[in-house]
Amino acid sequence: MIIDPNEVIEAVAGDTLAGFCIKCGAENGPVEPDARKYRCEACGKMAVFGAQELLFMCQWRTENPDSGSSSDESMWPSIG
Ligand SMILES: [Zn+2]
Repeated sequence: MIIDPNEVIEAVAGDTLAGFCIKCGAENGPVEPDARKYRCEACGKMAVFGAQELLFMCQWRTENPDSGSSSDESMWPSIG
């Protein structure tokens, strides 16, 4: 896992419009909070998601920490 969930939460709470690349972990922005598959400024992959979107996608895990599968990779969507 590249992205620190706490950074994502802080970005949402702080209303900073930060986006994060799920491939290399680079912070991109400003992007819409619900941005999906934007191009990463660092690695060029279409893998930047808005902080709010990332939080939404991983929420089911944080709410159900004992739900079995614990692979970090499954926490984030897979991109091509
Ligand atoms: Zn990247």
